[in-house]
Amino acid sequence: MSDCLFCKIVAGEIPSTKVYEDAHTYAFADTNPQAPTHVLVVPRQHFSDIADLARDAEASAGYLAGIRGLVEQEQLSDFRTVFNTGAGVGQSVFHVHAHVLAGRPMGWPPG
Ligand code: AMP
Ligand code: ZN
Repeated sequence: MSDCLFCKIVAGEIPSTKVYEDAHTYAFADTNPQAPTHVLVVPRQHFSDIADLARDAEASAGYLAGIRGLVEQEQLSDFRTVFNTGAGVGQSVFHVHAHVLAGRPMGWPPG
């Protein structure tokens, strides 16, 4: 998608701090971290949100494998994975991304 921030990051047109990548997935540091570890994981292919991605079984499997790859590489045992879906709950970039958060205690339910 030509006008998508995260497509541009995946393409290297906008700089990012890479944390992990594989054939299907790219992961980079969030510029406004909410925890000591705050990584955004995106599929290289553009999908607007998790519901859009879920329509494509192959891409979904590749994406989940990418999240696993990140978690294994970073040796995360306790982490929170958040998908904001829709502007009403705070989605601001409409290229699906998991927030992977770790490194501090986190309450439940979230506020
Ligand atoms: P969301 O509000 O769930 O759509 O999450 C978007 C996230 O992208 C926010 O946590 C932002 O801090 C983060 N963000 C925005 N622009 C960039 C960027 N250029 N590089 C890294 N993270 C970004
Ligand atoms: Zn995109």
